[in-house]
Amino acid sequence: MPVLSKEEIEKFYEFCKKSINTEVASYLEACVRCGICAEACLFYMGVNVSGRIDPSLTPAYKADLLREIYKENYTLFGKLKKLLGFGVRISPEDLREQVKLVFYTCTNCDRCTKACPMGIDTPKLVSIVRGALTHAGLTPKDLANATNLSIEKGSPLGVDIPTFLQRLEFISEEYEVEVPINKKPSDYLYLPSSIELMKFPSSVAAAVKVLNRTGINWTMSTVAHEATNFGLFAQSKEVTREMLRRVLEGAKELGVSYIITPECGHAYQSMRFIAPNIFPKDWTFEVLNIVEFIDRMIDKGRISIKRKVLKERTTLHDSCQIGRRGGVLRESRRILKMLAEDFQDSVLIPEHNICCGGGGGVLVIGEADQYRQKAFISKMTLFDKVEAKTVVCYCANCMLALTKGNQELGRDYRFVSIVELVAEAMEGEE
Ligand code: SF4
Ligand code: SF4
Repeated sequence: MPVLSKEEIEKFYEFCKKSINTEVASYLEACVRCGICAEACLFYMGVNVSGRIDPSLTPAYKADLLREIYKENYTLFGKLKKLLGFGVRISPEDLREQVKLVFYTCTNCDRCTKACPMGIDTPKLVSIVRGALTHAGLTPKDLANATNLSIEKGSPLGVDIPTFLQRLEFISEEYEVEVPINKKPSDYLYLPSSIELMKFPSSVAAAVKVLNRTGINWTMSTVAHEATNFGLFAQSKEVTREMLRRVLEGAKELGVSYIITPECGHAYQSMRFIAPNIFPKDWTFEVLNIVEFIDRMIDKGRISIKRKVLKERTTLHDSCQIGRRGGVLRESRRILKMLAEDFQDSVLIPEHNICCGGGGGVLVIGEADQYRQKAFISKMTLFDKVEAKTVVCYCANCMLALTKGNQELGRDYRFVSIVELVAEAMEGEE
């Protein structure tokens, strides 16, 4: 991290101060230091099982500096302390620690919120600190680069429109699927993520096969061609807004009523929950994740799938942003119970599933690798518990993070996309 000036520290402080509204103040006041959230966090658990207790990885601790800033500005005791010369002092080391706490060791998975008896939304507090660090120019380099590429080229992987079209042409030829592009008018817009386009083209081909089979009037767009939104990871309001504005422009131009988001957790979050708040008048679309869409199409009889095609013991990895935070937990289970002969859920309550360790932008941050690898240990315990080697996923970023963890720790799980499984199992598919 570069040498920090007084101005950067000041920017961090002011951003935090301005972000404290009644909701945030209630979270900061309500923490009773019970520590229950620690055992909910995959980073805390992962470091502990690897032999070293690190109390700084407790979710509640991530909000401590923000809490100090809150007290100093909004409580009598804090104000008095400041008057007496004992105000909050922030050193460059403090900000370095904040980068570790909110960018390297938090995926915004929300598991701690579900565990907290006071209902404290730690991801919300983490997001404020991320935003303050970004405002002060302290976004981790890898994440900042990917975020800038999103704005400049249209995608964090640098997939611009010519590359997008080339990849679709490749998918069309390689997998023998017809891909409608800019078809007007259409009812449904499907957006892939650049992770899928570049690293998992078979997943995009599978989604195309399923969409074509349903008989709906759908298309892809060269204006709205990227589902990911790195503005959320860096907590840059400008980037978040701009990426969503492009989707809005593309969707409006095509006159669609529905947007189908791909196997990508935060794409669903951004379009389903954030966009309607940024564009309350214009965002008139119904947003469906591809898993929700498939479940609906099976229910309506528009696609039918062969039963029990997956013979081996299988479990499910939930995307935190689509599942726990997005509420899409039953759909994937319904589909998997049809597809798998021996499906074993690794958690009793679906909301309790553990994150892959790479969400929230953690996967792209090189400095976070050591923490992500330990967090993967927490995840593995669930796969091992049900003795499953085949793990079905519905987020490409999760697939990437799990595959990386698998290789790094020398394990032999097989990760498969639920959409690919559905495409293969559709009646009439060879
Ligand atoms: S949101 Fe997830 S990763 Fe972040 S502190 Fe909470 S449990 Fe840990
Ligand atoms: S579980 Fe909730 S109240 Fe307890 S320490 Fe964590 S954030 Fe605070």
